[in-house]
Amino acid sequence: MHNTVIVVGAGPVGLMLAGELRLGGVPVVVVERRAERSGESRGLGFTARATEIFHQRGLLERFGEVETSRQGHFGGIPMDFGVLEGSHFGARGIPQDRTERILEDWANELGATVLRGHELVALREDTDEVIAQVESPDGRRELTGAYLVGCDGGRSIVRGLAGFDFPGTDATREMYLADVVGRGIRPRFIGERVPGGMVMSAPLADDLDRIIVCERGTPHRERRGNPDFAEVADAWQRLTGESLHGAETRWVSAFTDATRQVTEYRRGRVLLAGDAAHTHLPAGGQGLSLGVQDAMNLGWKLAATVRGSAPPDLLDTYHAERHPVGERVLRNTRAQGLLYLSGEEVEPLRAVVGELMTIPDVARRLSGMVSGLDIRYDLGPDTHPLLGRRLADFRLGGTTVAETLHAARGVLIDVGGSGLSEVDEWSDRVDVVTAEPGPDWPADTGAVLLRPDGYVAWAGGSGLAEALHRWFGPPKAAAPSTTRLTERAVAH
Ligand SMILES: Cc1cc2nc3c(=O)[nH]c(=O)nc-3n(C[C@H](O)[C@H](O)[C@H](O)COP(=O)(O)OP(=O)(O)OC[C@H]3O[C@@H](n4cnc5c(N)ncnc54)[C@H](O)[C@@H]3O)c2cc1C
Repeated sequence: MHNTVIVVGAGPVGLMLAGELRLGGVPVVVVERRAERSGESRGLGFTARATEIFHQRGLLERFGEVETSRQGHFGGIPMDFGVLEGSHFGARGIPQDRTERILEDWANELGATVLRGHELVALREDTDEVIAQVESPDGRRELTGAYLVGCDGGRSIVRGLAGFDFPGTDATREMYLADVVGRGIRPRFIGERVPGGMVMSAPLADDLDRIIVCERGTPHRERRGNPDFAEVADAWQRLTGESLHGAETRWVSAFTDATRQVTEYRRGRVLLAGDAAHTHLPAGGQGLSLGVQDAMNLGWKLAATVRGSAPPDLLDTYHAERHPVGERVLRNTRAQGLLYLSGEEVEPLRAVVGELMTIPDVARRLSGMVSGLDIRYDLGPDTHPLLGRRLADFRLGGTTVAETLHAARGVLIDVGGSGLSEVDEWSDRVDVVTAEPGPDWPADTGAVLLRPDGYVAWAGGSGLAEALHRWFGPPKAAAPSTTRLTERAVAH
């Protein structure tokens, strides 16, 4: 029986998943068809929840000084993320290539094998293994694994080979982007609606700006390569009156508003994550963040399944939890596209939505939706308000919630030291942190059990043993005495 997981694609999602699987103790091989990293700037940052999960793995520090902003938008209507409780705002101005480099270094340090210049061309599944055929610099070779995860982007080969359905709406328009050198373009961080469309611009570096041009009435066409910059500059000039013709560029590309999602995230031993599972308009910069959260949700579940310690239905909770989250992102990006990119006829609706957004509860709802902070997984009938939600980065004596999650194990936060001895039987999978409640600790909340992805699996009352069983599988056969970790003494 093989215990390796094959990950197809070394984009941000494949690399995040590789690191998560390694933390779960499983061998990982990532196959990536590009011989070198693309260097493309693409997703320029991540949402508040993605910032938080990078922090929970000790990765945020690797980004150095991160520029965060509480200013966001919904369909181009300004929105203040400051209405949300929590320690992070989304990060901006980080080229995707940098994110990928950081994730690849991390995955390598944890022992993942990344095979560049390796393209998946076929796969087949047997009862207890999956076999991938890969074109490599040395010719075709076969790799065998227990599971294979397609993190191979919006045009996923895995999706087609494994027979996933990918319904949705076709592209209705094409939009351009370019990274332009040395023109000092005025920033329009959340974009501007102008007669004929919408334009956006933001600095990427001292002498480099990203522009996005969405011109109404552009037909969508199937492109083989990237557009010429002249096409982009023409459209920019039509909408802004400014000429960028002849400028040096680092990257020119086009994208559409096609919106699709697979109907199932798992078919047997093949799973999908990231853009391979869902594509949508990059409104509000949610795509990369949605994908790395898929990876964080899947990694520990798949690792436990491969190790043989998982409860039987654990892996299926990946689809059950992440499909609705993806569906909601698709809905909000379509709504934002309509609000932002439609013509004059949408102005009354924008005015009404803008007015509604001045109501604090509405602002909180929309900010929570776009930042990913309001995700609540359906973990059963318990009515504790924290159940199924992420736990903010509370201080726990000498440590913090984020620090306790570095090792991607379960964590029982025993606030007040109520001595929950049931957990001793899961000490090989769950750490215990004992701390006095700080002033910001949620009211009426005692102990909390966190899953490795930072979501609350149990919050006080009875039923701790059931929750441990539900998420971490059966207790140890013969439980040696647990090493109780107090405050700072959490092993990383
Ligand atoms: C203009 C634009 C702006 C964006 N802005 C943001 C933003 O601000 N914030 C944000 O969160 N997201 C943003 N996104 C979205 C973000 O770029 C994607 O969601 C993200 O790249 C998805 O990551 P992924 O790992 O799923 O797929 P990808 O990044 O596409 O990676 C897939 C990898 O798989 C490899 N691959 C493909 N086929 C094979 C094969 N057969 N064998 C081996 N390897 C294969 C590819 O070479 C690639 O390296 C933006 C996207 C666009 C286009």
